[in-house]
Amino acid sequence: MVHLAGPQIEDTDNRVILKDRLIQLIQSAGPIPVSAYMSQCLHDPKDGYYATRPGLGADFITAPEASQVFGELLGLWSAHEWIAMGSPSRLCLLEVGPGRGVLMADALRAARHAKGFMDAKQLYFTEASPAMRQVIRSHLNDHSPVFVSGVEQLYPGPVILLANEFLDCLPVRQFVKSKGAWHERVVGLNGAGALSFGLAADQAPELPATPLAAVEVQPGLDMMVDALKARVENGEPLRALFIDYGPANAAPDDTLRAYKAGEQIHPLAQPGRCDLTVDVDFGRLKRLALAAGLDVAGPVSQGAFLGAIGVQERLDALLKSEAEKSDEIFKGANKLVDPDQMGLRFKVICISSPGLPPPAGFGL
Ligand code: SAH
Repeated sequence: MVHLAGPQIEDTDNRVILKDRLIQLIQSAGPIPVSAYMSQCLHDPKDGYYATRPGLGADFITAPEASQVFGELLGLWSAHEWIAMGSPSRLCLLEVGPGRGVLMADALRAARHAKGFMDAKQLYFTEASPAMRQVIRSHLNDHSPVFVSGVEQLYPGPVILLANEFLDCLPVRQFVKSKGAWHERVVGLNGAGALSFGLAADQAPELPATPLAAVEVQPGLDMMVDALKARVENGEPLRALFIDYGPANAAPDDTLRAYKAGEQIHPLAQPGRCDLTVDVDFGRLKRLALAAGLDVAGPVSQGAFLGAIGVQERLDALLKSEAEKSDEIFKGANKLVDPDQMGLRFKVICISSPGLPPPAGFGL
């Protein structure tokens, strides 16, 4: 996501409550892993960032919010992959972490040109935030969306899964090497009783050999791959497309960051009031998927992927049909592919059930 600079949101709603509750919890139960802290901050039903204050467009802007071209191309990609599956009469189209549902609205507008696609698709969303679910219901209700907890809850049938900027908010465990041994990084209290980072006294389990002094592990990646593996065991085709930021081939070390109104702030400063995010370890995701017997294409850069599936052609058509907004349209679409903006930093990976033809967009 591109974090927006802008006016600070007035903190008039006295949301210090989560910080106080975390301090109380740590006082009584001891320090908590960074993953538990991140999970509370994002999803606490009362004060969690996503649960209570949809920060999209205020604290950060994502690709579908930057340009309609993004969702439209993913819609065309989905229709293409549905055809590659043999145009099955029923398709589970699942978006995970849809936020306001902008990507899917654009995707469906483009995909309706593929004959039979709209009748075949049943729309599903996995969205943790009740506030976001409400927004989605308000503008995608005509498509009768079903909210599910994950891929394991879909009806039987072929699956296309889309997830943009979902993996980066899966809670992370951090390990730090201290005097030759790995220790888990935890959130505890300092002498003044304020939240502070520390290391668990106990040694952490042995981690794979790495020259790094710190490593991050998102257990949610393992859970996602497990769910995909279980789903394809019924023999039906599946494609899952994940777009996010992170290195293609290196383990992230300490990438936990907090953003509020475009400013980077300390991750412990305002629990629940700011976005928390980490870089996604695409290399690990790929290794996990391959080890589970799934096919993997990518990761490739977002710029390369969108280029391969026709970003230029779509942009040209749009500029022609909406000439009066050409400046805005160009700027938005350019943000997606420009190497200095989202083009290189964002990666795309496609995980599929075994035996499908290579997916579009990966130059295979
Ligand atoms: N895909 C959207 C929103 C990205 S923000 C876009 O590109 O604009 C991340 C979204 O994932 C938020 O809506 C958040 O509520 C949701 N989310 C985060 N963790 C989740 C989880 N474990 N399960 C379901 N949704 C989650």
